[in-house]
Amino acid sequence: MILVDTHAHLHFGRFSSDVDDVVERFKREGGKYLINIGINVEDSEKALKTARKYGFKAAVGVHPHDSKSVPKNYIERLEELAKDKNVVAIGEIGLDYYRNLSPKEVQKKVFIEQIELAEALKKPLIIHVRQAYEDVYEILSSVDLPDPPGVIHAFSADLDWALKFIKLGFMLGIGGTVTYPKNEKLRNVVKGVGIDSILTETDCPYLPPQPFRGRRNEPLYVKYVLEKISDLLNISVEEAGKKILNNAMEVFG
Ligand SMILES: [Zn+2]
Repeated sequence: MILVDTHAHLHFGRFSSDVDDVVERFKREGGKYLINIGINVEDSEKALKTARKYGFKAAVGVHPHDSKSVPKNYIERLEELAKDKNVVAIGEIGLDYYRNLSPKEVQKKVFIEQIELAEALKKPLIIHVRQAYEDVYEILSSVDLPDPPGVIHAFSADLDWALKFIKLGFMLGIGGTVTYPKNEKLRNVVKGVGIDSILTETDCPYLPPQPFRGRRNEPLYVKYVLEKISDLLNISVEEAGKKILNNAMEVFG
């Protein structure tokens, strides 16, 4: 089985006591590619350091929750970090109107500034959207994007929205929530878009798949996501894994 996790936070505190074991399990079971993601400037430094240590890739960026507290020179600092060859994307960046921990206008400003950085650096975007699909779409369809543009992480809208983002060139990040009994909407999206537009991810330590709900998520559990996707699309797990690794190479190089 080939496992690909395009969205992990292995440097977070919930992995501090056993990250070596967590990585070992993932690699032993077929883990071939992982992107470790930062959520602000300092956290992105940590994300990169952990990625390097285990031979993984990293993304650097400021999450919408953290956008109100960015240092003045945050773009320069992200640019500096992004020079590292292990940094394959700018993220996670985006808009989150569900928790609204930063004012909307600040979220938008910081989101757009980071898209401009990614476009200048020719690196794809890893985008976080929560209850803000309209505004994210409006921004993404009105600015210059990197080519390929990247991934909508933890995609949670319906098939119509999925097809609109795919038209802009994005892939969809599908994670543990596709295994939740009530989430017929996301399973419809998977069936509607097909394997060509899908990347697998965990968002660990968050969003565990059904068998581990209420517990810590980890990269190995992306296999439950892969199994569900191959089941929905009627292809073998081997074939789905190979294709998703190809997709990740297409987007992140
Ligand atoms: Zn995340």
